[in-house]
Amino acid sequence: MPCVALLSDVLDMHYLAPAFREHCPDIDLRLGKDLGPLDQIDAAVCWYPPHGLLAQLPQLQLVQSLAAGVDHITADPQLPRALPLCRIVDPEMATGMKAYVCWAVIHQQRQMPAYLASAAVGAWREQTMSPPGRHRVGIAGLGTLGLACAEALAAIGYSVRGWSRSAKADLPPGVAGFHGDAQLGEFLSGCDTLVCLLPLTPQTQGFLNAELFARLPRGAHLINVGRGAHLVEADLLRALDRGELSAATLDAFTQEPLPPEHPFWADPRILVTPHIATRTDVSVIAQQTLNNLALLQRGERPGTAVDLDRGY
Ligand code: NAP
Repeated sequence: MPCVALLSDVLDMHYLAPAFREHCPDIDLRLGKDLGPLDQIDAAVCWYPPHGLLAQLPQLQLVQSLAAGVDHITADPQLPRALPLCRIVDPEMATGMKAYVCWAVIHQQRQMPAYLASAAVGAWREQTMSPPGRHRVGIAGLGTLGLACAEALAAIGYSVRGWSRSAKADLPPGVAGFHGDAQLGEFLSGCDTLVCLLPLTPQTQGFLNAELFARLPRGAHLINVGRGAHLVEADLLRALDRGELSAATLDAFTQEPLPPEHPFWADPRILVTPHIATRTDVSVIAQQTLNNLALLQRGERPGTAVDLDRGY
């Protein structure tokens, strides 16, 4: 009977319990403040786990993120780095992200904010229209989610490019690939819309900054669906004021929930969504956790284990 702890400093993890019990009726689930004997816990499912707690679980075999990213776990300075740390990789999560990113690109490129303003006053007013093929969308991060978005945007006619750490063979048709710091400038110079789908690591923190904005085509649209800490918020406001950027669609923030007094809410150039670009199905979290634990107990390494040296 597996013993699984659901750990978070910021989220009530009870919503996960029914899915775990459905997949494993005998499971010993530990939640909340009293986790019982710590030496019985085999796996920990985490979203911002309390710092230092994982290091106190002597029999822990698996640290499982309930999300695609693991930055909320690697932020723990006492993370036991010898243990496998797995993330969720789920086709449905990619489908949700594709829908969000396509919507965000189209919303700006087809001038929907102007149509919403016209509709509010009953005005039949056409905006200029250019075909998707003349709009260049760049995706920073060509992983599971970035690749899915690149493919979807190319399929509806956008001119798509992507940037990753390593070179990519077999990119979807119509997607141009760039990689590494040496090709970053060339990549950015062709992004009328830039989508950030990077993992948050020490290398990518603050990636969306003044220097980067100045390298984009003037008036570019920024979509951040990565993490809040990818963005230097003050640099974004300055780039919008200078006209380097025309708009931003933001789904992730350093402080979540974004406080009501935050300047982004009231800025008509910025569209805020509350970290909803995509979600992980609870059943998938339960299934992948239990599968990963079973694999480890057979001495096999799960395919979704991250490389802690790379940070993703
Ligand atoms: P992934 O499969 O690990 O892919 C990460 C991509 O980023 C890879 O292409 C990687 O390059 C590239 N990359 C990493 N570090 C880089 C660097 N220093 N320079 C250039 N490229 C770099 O991740 P994923 O599953 O697509 O998820 C991406 C992120 O999306 C997650 O980490 C999370 O932060 C965010 N996310 C947000 C939401 C939301 O609702 N807003 C939901 C899910 C996920 P290589 O291919 O060369 O390794």
